[in-house]
Amino acid sequence: MTIDALAGSLPARTRGPVITPDHRLYDSARALFNGMLDRRPRLIFRPADTDDLAAAVRCAAESDVAIAVRGGGHSVAGHSMPDDGFVIDLSRWRSATVDPERRIADAEGGCLLMDLDAATAGYGLAAPSGTFFDTGIGGLTLGVGISHIIASEGFGCDALIGAELVTADGRVVDVDEATQPDLLWALRGGGGNFGIVTRFRYRLTPIQQMYSGSLSYRGPAVGEVLARLFELDAAASDELVTQAIVFWSAEDGGPIVRVNVDWRGEPDDGDAAIRELRDDPVPFQTNLRPMTWLQAQARFTPIPFGLRHYWKGHLVGEASAGLADAILTAAEGSGDDGFILVELIHGAAHRIPEDSAAFGGRRAVANVTALSIWREAGGDEAGIEWGRRAAQLFEPWSLSGGGYLNYPEVDQTAARVAAAFGPERFARLREVKRTWDPDNRFRHNANIVPAR
Ligand SMILES: Cc1cc2nc3c(=O)[nH]c(=O)nc-3n(C[C@H](O)[C@H](O)[C@H](O)COP(=O)(O)OP(=O)(O)OC[C@H]3O[C@@H](n4cnc5c(N)ncnc54)[C@H](O)[C@@H]3O)c2cc1C
Repeated sequence: MTIDALAGSLPARTRGPVITPDHRLYDSARALFNGMLDRRPRLIFRPADTDDLAAAVRCAAESDVAIAVRGGGHSVAGHSMPDDGFVIDLSRWRSATVDPERRIADAEGGCLLMDLDAATAGYGLAAPSGTFFDTGIGGLTLGVGISHIIASEGFGCDALIGAELVTADGRVVDVDEATQPDLLWALRGGGGNFGIVTRFRYRLTPIQQMYSGSLSYRGPAVGEVLARLFELDAAASDELVTQAIVFWSAEDGGPIVRVNVDWRGEPDDGDAAIRELRDDPVPFQTNLRPMTWLQAQARFTPIPFGLRHYWKGHLVGEASAGLADAILTAAEGSGDDGFILVELIHGAAHRIPEDSAAFGGRRAVANVTALSIWREAGGDEAGIEWGRRAAQLFEPWSLSGGGYLNYPEVDQTAARVAAAFGPERFARLREVKRTWDPDNRFRHNANIVPAR
C-alpha cells in the first residue's frame, strides 16, 4: 500500500479538505517558517473535527503511510512538511477556552501562543509557553517551552496537565496523570512522537503587571555584561527571567548585546532586581517599563515566514566567564540577521522533579543557540557554516551534547536527539513509543524509534 492508495481513500472517508499540488491553496498550505525548505508534500489534510482526524489517521495506517503534523509551522527543521508525504494540518484549530475557577485552559492543537494568551489574559491568568506570540503551542509544548515566566512556573511542558490524543491506530485517548501517566510524561518533552494532540490542557497561574523590556550594550562592555548576567541570573528570585541576544554589528565593527528582562514581581522592585546590570557599564539603550502580560508576550516582532534559517546550540550545565568568551568569539560573523540567543534558566524550572517529564535538560542553566538567519539562497553555505561553528564553540559547556529540541538544526542527527534525553529517558521513551506507535507512524519529528 502507498500514498497513492491513501490519496484514493482519504476524500471518500473524511470531510475536511484534502489539499493536493493542483489545489489553489497548496502553496500557502505548504509554506514553512524556514524558507530554505521548499517542501512539496503529496497530501495536506485539514480535518473538520476530532472524528474526522481519527478517520484520516486510520486511513493512513491502512495504507501504511507516515503522518506529519503541522501546528503553527514554526519547526526550523521543517518536521511538519515532508516531501511527497502526508500532512495533517491543524492550522485552523485555534480555539482556546478557560475555566477561571479551576485555573485551567483547554487549547486546540493548532493554537498559536497568541490564541492561548488572548484567552487567558482576560481572567488575569497565564500559561508558561514561549516568547514569540505567533509560534504554535503544539510543537512548543511537546518540545518543552521556554517562556517569560520560566523561573516561577517551570517549562511550558510542566504546565501540561492533560491532553486529548489521537493515537497511531486512530483511537481518541484522554491523557492525564490519573489515566495515562506514562503518556503524559512522554508528551512533556518527547515531541510529536506519540500521536496527534487535538486538545492541550494547561495549569494557569495568576499574573499581574509585568516590568519588562531590555538593556543594550556595545563594544568591550559586552563580555563583562554577559558574565555579570550569568551571576545575576543564578542568584535571582523566581520573579526574574532574563535572556541575552548577542550579535556582531558591522557598523560598530564589534559586538552588541541586548539583555531582555521580564520581572513579574512588583513593578517598583524591578529595577532593584537587575541593579548589577543598570549602572556600570551603562547601557546605551534602556526600555524597561510596566506592561500587561499581553504586552509582554507581544513585544517581540514576529520573524516573517520565508527567511532562511540554520539554528544549532546546546543546553549548558554551567554559565561561566569562559562561556561568555566563547559566545563573543562566536558572535563575530553572525551576519546581517543572525544572533546568539542565551536563555537563562533558574528557579522552579530546576526544582520541578526530574522524573515528572521526559525532557532531559532540566539541570541546564542556559540554552545557548546560534540562530543563523539570512535572506538569499546564495548565503546558504556561509549561513549554515556559521551556525555549526558557533554551536561547536559552546559544546564544552554542553550538559549532554544535545541541544534544545525545539530549536532543531535542519541536519539534526539521531545521536543528537538521543543525547538530548540521555540513555535512561531515551530507553523509557522508546518503550512508550512501542506501546503507542509501534510502526513509527509519527516519524516526522525529533524521532524516537520504537523499542524492539
Ligand atoms: C520565531 C520563533 C520563535 C520561537 N520562540 C520560542 C520560545 O520563545 N520558546 C520556545 O520554547 N520555543 C520557541 N520556538 C521554537 C518552537 O517551540 C518550535 O519551533 C515549535 O516546533 C513550534 O511549534 P509549531 O507547532 O509552530 O511547529 P510545527 O512546525 O507546526 O510543528 C513542529 C512539530 O511539532 C509536532 N506537533 C505540532 N503540533 C502538534 C500536535 N497538535 N500534536 C502532535 N504533534 C504536534 C509535530 O511533530 C511537528 O512536526 C520558536 C521558534 C520560532 C521559529
